[in-house]
Amino acid sequence: MAQLLDKRKFYINGEWIAPSRPNDFEVIDPSTEEAIAVISLGNQADTDRAVAAAIGAFPTWSQTSPAERLAYVEKILEIYNARATEMAAAITSEMGAPRDMSLAYQVEAGTHHIENFITAFKNFEFVRPLGDHAPSTMVAWEPVGVVGLITPWNWPMNQLTLKVIPSLLVGNTAVLKPSEIAPLSSLLFAEIVHEAGVPKGVFNLVNGDGAGVGTQLSTHPGVDMVSFTGSTRAGIAITKAAADTLKKVTLELGGKGANLIFADADQKAVEWGVWRCFFNSGQSCNAPTRMLVERSAYDLAVETAARLARETVVASAHQSGDHLGPVVSKLQWDKIQDLIQLGISEGARLVAGGPGLPEGVNQGYFVRPTVFADVNNRMTIARQEIFGPVLSIIPFDSEEEAIEIANDTIYGLTNFVQSQDGARRNRVARRLRAGMIEMNRESRGAGSAFGGIKASGRAREGGIMGLEEFMDAKHISAWDTGVSPLKQ
Ligand code: NAD
Repeated sequence: MAQLLDKRKFYINGEWIAPSRPNDFEVIDPSTEEAIAVISLGNQADTDRAVAAAIGAFPTWSQTSPAERLAYVEKILEIYNARATEMAAAITSEMGAPRDMSLAYQVEAGTHHIENFITAFKNFEFVRPLGDHAPSTMVAWEPVGVVGLITPWNWPMNQLTLKVIPSLLVGNTAVLKPSEIAPLSSLLFAEIVHEAGVPKGVFNLVNGDGAGVGTQLSTHPGVDMVSFTGSTRAGIAITKAAADTLKKVTLELGGKGANLIFADADQKAVEWGVWRCFFNSGQSCNAPTRMLVERSAYDLAVETAARLARETVVASAHQSGDHLGPVVSKLQWDKIQDLIQLGISEGARLVAGGPGLPEGVNQGYFVRPTVFADVNNRMTIARQEIFGPVLSIIPFDSEEEAIEIANDTIYGLTNFVQSQDGARRNRVARRLRAGMIEMNRESRGAGSAFGGIKASGRAREGGIMGLEEFMDAKHISAWDTGVSPLKQ
């Protein structure tokens, strides 16, 4: 077996330091099931040390000029892009995104967010007039203070950049706790921040699990805000844990996206829907996992989806190509298997894939791309987030029924609409209960906020709203508009 990477140290106050008490945890490569690195799970003393560093750095960092902070983030972007291949390799090994996909999408998502934040930040007015009716009242946007950032394993750099970059730009100081399952890319990001020369204490990283460092950050009196992305279960636990210290909590949680395909949708609608559901091995909170198809187009959609699932290649993440990799862990693999079994026992019609490993595979957490037809929205596979390459197809007879099925879920993250009828698209989009609606396979514009409603959490990350998320709005009267520039 190859030598394990020693990644036991934390990044605190500008230095790599050993944990206060050894507590080793192995990082597993899901393609091989082999341990590839060892990290430490931190404890209260480590968390306290990181929070103290962030508290210490806040008074100076929060008073730096926007231009100074922007220069650091531009430097981070430059180094991040220069180390893209290294970053892609880390993500491939820690969570199983196939190498080409890792570079083109996982790493690229980070670049995309950093660039969009830079654009939003350049135009951001930190002090603005309330309105013509109150010319000397100003709204001033201030950093929240010390922020605890807790991220998941499925899109590591996507989640990290949506939190770390706005925190730095607006003048907060931060303690990041990445997922203990996929911490290598975040450790590399800490190296990038260090290389960019960001002052000590402004950004800190402590590895740990949810019960340890995650809870310690959520309850810490020195932490002013917790920004969390992950499961709805953990989001609830964090909200409760944070209540006693009344800190600001923002949550990006799970989803069960509906993709409404009307009979007049373009030919690629079903194909695209299957691809988006399976992408990243189904491990995306915004995956369109419920495909709702108008009855007259239903049989063809089922046939197409089944064929595409059978044609989808599943292979090691270390191979080049556009195949699917494994899912992240044995725990997730077992959970997905249980849900596929439940789909069968609750009476859904299995038209592709199914339980067990793909043919010819005997190692790695690989899942067969699976399609269920004749799913009823009350079935477990239509209600629970599966987080694997499993698609549920549900027929509908009218627009009204499609909206009702789509909204009949605890989640409200992303819904999708496919139709050539613009009036219908607009009408349906307004009635779907979700934070994001994507129509006719078109991505939302750069700078759109990412976030949901209901059990998907109510955070708004990315772009201008994603900057405001990490600030507090202060209203000030009798502002002397002749003295201070409005944009600062
Ligand atoms: P998870 O909730 O188990 O873990 C996420 C992070 O939270 C990890 O760092 C973990 O250590 C930490 N954590 C776990 N329990 C905690 C607790 N009680 N207190 C504090 N921290 C805790 O989720 P996961 O399995 O890593 O990620 C998958 C989930 O994330 C899915 O449900 C997915 O939908 C969701 N997700 C949501 C978005 C979004 O933007 N809405 C994006 C990506 C993933």
